[in-house]
Amino acid sequence: MIRVIVVGAAGRMGRCLVANIAGSRDMKLAGATERPESEFIGIDAGSVAGTQPLGVKISADFSALLGQADAVIDFSTGEVVRNAALAAAKGLSVVIGTTALTTDDKTALKKLADNGAKVVQASNYSVGVNLLIYLTKLASKMLSDDFDIEIIEAHHNRKKDAPSGTAVTLAETIAKVKDWDYTRDVRHGRQGQVGARTKHEIGMHAVRGGDIVGDHTVLFAAEGERVELTHKASSRDTFARGALLAVRFLAEVKAGLYDMQDILGLK
Ligand code: NAD
Repeated sequence: MIRVIVVGAAGRMGRCLVANIAGSRDMKLAGATERPESEFIGIDAGSVAGTQPLGVKISADFSALLGQADAVIDFSTGEVVRNAALAAAKGLSVVIGTTALTTDDKTALKKLADNGAKVVQASNYSVGVNLLIYLTKLASKMLSDDFDIEIIEAHHNRKKDAPSGTAVTLAETIAKVKDWDYTRDVRHGRQGQVGARTKHEIGMHAVRGGDIVGDHTVLFAAEGERVELTHKASSRDTFARGALLAVRFLAEVKAGLYDMQDILGLK
């Protein structure tokens, strides 16, 4: 049994992860954390997740749980890098789903991995989205610069960051293929007299509304034709299942920083 701690266990993804771990044959919930001021501290993580009680109370003391676990899954909006460093120092594998990580955060995770930690960090753990990333890379290589590229993402109205981490990954993927620069060449929305579209840009558009779990479209539009690659997530379970795959993957590999493309063999 792989013993797993879920950080942010009362969040939308946290509850889903707890339920998926409870339903798995090879994993066991070893700990669950929340913010110290959370109303869920002291309550059984299984009850919060809507499964049967699991005998694991949600705690605010992450460090105290590390001795009794093999891996940490963090989809919280808390101190992800600090938690990863604490977990890695105790030899635990770390799976990070939190988006809106800064460049400094990503550099710190790479450094942890270079120093012997096993880390998976991915902006999207769905198998389908990772296929979308792969197909976007392929289409960006195959379609000429006659094709304008725009990314449209849609999420629920409680999402705090924009564009989504997945949309950023898609734009980074295209920029890499074309030898463009994300910061310089991505146009976030358009308003007013912006002039005609240039050939050297990736349009980025974030839609927010209702309970949309996560839609991403990459549009390649030329004169007379267009190609649209679309993925739509309809349940958070898809992300949770991917995170569990990542935990299993880290149990088998040497130290390093990995993403879902590594896990699915799409590199
Ligand atoms: P949410 O707001 O429902 O949950 C976040 C939880 O983290 C909250 O319960 C909050 O109290 C908790 N938290 C904050 N600080 C904490 C701390 N210091 N210690 C412990 N817990 C803490 O948000 P959500 O919809 O579950 O999304 C969480 C994150 O996961 C976001 O960054 C989101 O973009 C990302 N996400 C990633 C994927 C993916 O596949 N990579 C999929 C869905 C969501």
